[in-house]
Amino acid sequence: MGGTMALTGEQINQAVDKVKQIRPAYTDILDFYGRLFIAQEDSKASIAIDPIIISETALDQKREAQFPLINISDFVIDEAASQTLFKRICRMAGNVSGKLSDPAEAILEAIENEQMDLPRHFSSFLSEDDVYMKRLADGLKIDGEALALFTYSSINPSIVLNTDQLSTFLDKEASWEKGYCPICGSLPGFALLEDEGKRSFFCSFCRHQWLAPRRFCPFCENREEKTLAYFFSEEEKEYRVDVCEKCHKYIKTLDMRNTERIIYVPLEQVATLHLDIKAKEKGLESGVVLNI
Ligand SMILES: [Zn+2]
Ligand SMILES: [Zn+2]
Repeated sequence: MGGTMALTGEQINQAVDKVKQIRPAYTDILDFYGRLFIAQEDSKASIAIDPIIISETALDQKREAQFPLINISDFVIDEAASQTLFKRICRMAGNVSGKLSDPAEAILEAIENEQMDLPRHFSSFLSEDDVYMKRLADGLKIDGEALALFTYSSINPSIVLNTDQLSTFLDKEASWEKGYCPICGSLPGFALLEDEGKRSFFCSFCRHQWLAPRRFCPFCENREEKTLAYFFSEEEKEYRVDVCEKCHKYIKTLDMRNTERIIYVPLEQVATLHLDIKAKEKGLESGVVLNI
């Protein structure tokens, strides 16, 4: 568990280069995301946040009820590090196609003109204040999805460090029988298959990886074998898409037994958009919002 996650910037670079070789169509998008993932790793070194304390009583209650440890609004963000990273990501996005570069330029200008209060912006994002986010995007005349992507990406290193700390409260060997993340309650965005049929889910928000039941839909908690299927392509045996015929949702899965590459899951999510397209063609719906 978690062995796929702790990569250095250099290893992320290698992972990105390898995927670019296999799937050159992703070169442009991976040039951006590769730099973004490395910037996130760099940012971790400058983050100082206090651990989140959960009392023994609260822990027992949460375990008993199978509730997640915290709510998304409880994550502790290092404001200074997040602000630095936010500006860095916007500058990096300035080189990508108009879909990202136009919003990035408008945001950088707003920061320059002191029209954006970044600490307030981060806390509004974490408290899922959609009205605020929409008003800001409309005011800057930009796409709300790009704004959400830059915002989420810049607070992500703090979130991941919170998650590392909080995971010490969990029993890593035990399978979690719920569809949502045991740390933050978000839904999984990706799954991994390992030796001995071990299956784990990867949180779409906090990047926590947890052991999941082998035959199980995280979106409707269906466990009925005959309504759980998957599809894959002959050319790409390392991936498969797990499908629930009850709720018609799917989760992309990497079969670690069929690959020798260095795996960085956030990269795999970006480099498998063709699987999302294929799933959509089959009338299936993604279990999580695709923020890419
Ligand atoms: Zn989570
Ligand atoms: Zn389902």
